[in-house]
Amino acid sequence: MSGRYPDRVRRTADEAAAAGLEAVLVAPSPDLAYLAGYDPPPLERLTLLVIRPGADAVLLVPTLERPLALASPLGADLEVVGWTDGDDPYQAAARLLPGAGRIGAGDRMWASHLLGLQRAVPEASFTTASPVISRLRAVKDANELAALARAARAADESFRQICSTRFEGRTEQDVSHDLEDLLVRNGHRRSDFAIVASGPNGFSPHHEPGGRTIRARDAVVMDFGGEFGGYFSDTTRTVVVGEPPPGFPEVYDAVRAAHDAALAAVRPGAAAQDVDRAARHTIELRGYGERFFHNTGHGIGLEVHEPPWIGEGNDLVLEPGMTFSVEPGIYLEGRFGVRIEDIVAVSADGVDRLNRSTRDLQVVD
Ligand code: ZN
Ligand code: ZN
Ligand code: ZN
Repeated sequence: MSGRYPDRVRRTADEAAAAGLEAVLVAPSPDLAYLAGYDPPPLERLTLLVIRPGADAVLLVPTLERPLALASPLGADLEVVGWTDGDDPYQAAARLLPGAGRIGAGDRMWASHLLGLQRAVPEASFTTASPVISRLRAVKDANELAALARAARAADESFRQICSTRFEGRTEQDVSHDLEDLLVRNGHRRSDFAIVASGPNGFSPHHEPGGRTIRARDAVVMDFGGEFGGYFSDTTRTVVVGEPPPGFPEVYDAVRAAHDAALAAVRPGAAAQDVDRAARHTIELRGYGERFFHNTGHGIGLEVHEPPWIGEGNDLVLEPGMTFSVEPGIYLEGRFGVRIEDIVAVSADGVDRLNRSTRDLQVVD
């Protein structure tokens, strides 16, 4: 067995052994797509990849989905065991598992499946497989980095193009739809979010674009991204319609300085929370500490939000190939919000910015 997927499965088995787990169980989820190149929808019928240190991996699938599973990239490299409607899938899984010990379950397994497995293997103790699988997924290989860079460039181009469209007199929804179209036109398979938060709506970081008409002197926060070749983009830029509102330039400057400070803190050997502290310290010094009320970033890859979390309390040591967002913001209730977000990769000696679009304040019409 060699190749991308068998390697990932083997490394999962090694990490599981090191973590004292008898088995790692992965249901349909981005984890399964990562490990097996197999991405069926999560359904009531149990599909389960069973990885055990010192044993061959087995994919348990509903018999009606066995042809699909066999055709997947890992299908030829592992045993695909079917269970048929009328069988008890949890007993079928139990036959592949040790009767006792610690078993790691993927975070996205439905509770109904986990409860079924717990009933079928009552002597085993179940824990999260996340420390094992997240660690592997967090460090991207060259293909994954290239895919994330492509997605970021397409988002950059979409931002450049949206800046030459009209904002004043149109609704947030109008601009949001334009952004979604641009993401797709620039190569995304689909747009997953296109937040457009104008004026006071910018106070809400995850504002749902609505019917508010954008006016002159509004600040507009745009946070947009989607899937491109299996990997995601996620970019935020804040623009102003004509003259900035009162107090805006100082706030924009503080967020930009925090963004610079966070980027400068990214390097192998630094802790994830060091990046957050760099951004937060900069904003605190300018007197807006209370107005920055979320983490500085999140990992990104097969999911828009995935580990590592770039926040206080995460002492995970950064390694080359880790990818995450850097997105400090300041939010002033009733007035406006400012956020700047780029996706970055930890490089051999520092940071590689995957987004390249300007962070200089853009004035739109
Ligand atoms: Zn967000
Ligand atoms: Zn975002
Ligand atoms: Zn983000």
